[in-house]
Amino acid sequence: MEPTQFKPVDCLHFINGQFVSSLDGKTFDNINPSTEQVLGTVAEGGAAEIHLAVKAAKKALKGPWMKMGANERVAILRKVGDLILARQDQLAALESMDTGKPIWLSGSIDIPRSAYNFHFFSDYIRTITTETTQMDNIALNYAVRSPLGVIGLINPWNLPLLLLTWKLAPALAAGNTVVMKPAELTPMTATVLAEICRDAGIPDGVVNLVHGFGPNSAGAALVEHPDVNAISFTGETSTGKVIMASASKTLKRLSYELGGKNPNIIFADSNMDEVIETTLKSSFINQGEVCLCGSRIYVERSAYQGFLDKFVAKSRELVVGDPFEPTTKVGALISEEHYERVMGYIELAVEEGGTILLGGKRPEGLDKGYYLEPTIITGLNRDCRVVQEEIFGPVVTVIPFDSEDDLLDQVNDTQYGLSATVWTNDLRRAHRVAGQIEAGIVWVNTWFLRDLRTPFGGVKQSGIGREGGLHSFEFYSELKNICIKL
Ligand code: NAD
Repeated sequence: MEPTQFKPVDCLHFINGQFVSSLDGKTFDNINPSTEQVLGTVAEGGAAEIHLAVKAAKKALKGPWMKMGANERVAILRKVGDLILARQDQLAALESMDTGKPIWLSGSIDIPRSAYNFHFFSDYIRTITTETTQMDNIALNYAVRSPLGVIGLINPWNLPLLLLTWKLAPALAAGNTVVMKPAELTPMTATVLAEICRDAGIPDGVVNLVHGFGPNSAGAALVEHPDVNAISFTGETSTGKVIMASASKTLKRLSYELGGKNPNIIFADSNMDEVIETTLKSSFINQGEVCLCGSRIYVERSAYQGFLDKFVAKSRELVVGDPFEPTTKVGALISEEHYERVMGYIELAVEEGGTILLGGKRPEGLDKGYYLEPTIITGLNRDCRVVQEEIFGPVVTVIPFDSEDDLLDQVNDTQYGLSATVWTNDLRRAHRVAGQIEAGIVWVNTWFLRDLRTPFGGVKQSGIGREGGLHSFEFYSELKNICIKL
């Protein structure tokens, strides 16, 4: 079908307030994962473009953005949110073309929440205070907060605008200047965002955007640049390790939101209808390409078969297909390479002794596009790679458990620690289990419910640091203590 009246956009860099090509004119194709067709071209940046962008951002640290009062900055950031909402339909269409996600998801969650990131952090500026400490009658200490400097924002492809604004809004609210490096697979909404920032009145050089790849390219050059003070990175754990090694040369501050292999724990006493409804989302929303998806499902043995029967039946009803059809629940995976990777895990599941209860294959009648049916696997144990490694697709494993000790043993036996969900109507058990799970976020009887004031981030190899509310400001600003002898 003709998806939308909005046309794909070609993507240029945005440096010092201007949209520009790469110095050598290099571009790469942007592919629509649901049709495998070329959407347009993307300027391919490298060290030279990063250098220009960082230079502009550094210069802007001495410009009008720094001298601006809080009222004016708040108004500009609010306007960015307003302009995102004003272009919501276009942004949602571009996001779905780029990622393959259903249009209802981009339109009702990703884009409105991107606008909210700006509204939230612009309001938050006014709540920030700093401490004073009196040392008897000897001295008075007070802390002042200042911007950190030039921040590099490196983003993944699964929630492109939502995650980019989650970094950009607090970085700007704290008074920094930035260079954004969006994922090479999803460049379009970042390009429109740069335009929106300009239209909202953000001065030239404050927001810069360089498109390109990660290793040995734009991403690596941003991490290595000596004038970049911090990197806020969301992406794979393995990439985080590479970035940490190279950022160590200039000792940059790092904020890391990395991979997850999150448990979804279901006790027999929970409300099964609610469990099924939410578990369909936490398993398959956005094709399972959300870091918070609950891809390891643990069910108390007495409820195991009943849960499986209902869950398989309901998952079978999910419509997979064209992201622009309103009935579609599961769209296309991001790329051919990722599709092959996910399919590789399904083959591995069989080799490891698992049973594919549902899915595991391309839906009939969809020959083009990287489509995969919701996939439910049983019969695997905790040591299997399919249970241990992040698959990042519409693939879940379901494992029974017999006791809380057995459960916690299995749940915590992973390198990851991003999030977890616990389903139970027993209040004491909810507290007990939530307290013992090794994860940065634990939901009880819900999933993905977020208040932006609360700390967000992972433990173990799922991340370093916290974002959200004051935590974001802590990362994006510097505190100086001034001590006055009385
Ligand atoms: P990725 O690590 O491959 O890429 C992320 C970004 O890093 C891209 O922009 C890429 O170009 C860049 N990059 C890659 N190598 C680099 C290098 N050497 N130096 C600098 N930049 C480099 O991740 P992805 O495949 O785009 O995203 C999926 C991953 O992101 C999953 O692991 C998922 O769990 C994770 N994720 C985590 C969160 C969270 O909040 N914890 C949120 C969303 C996604």
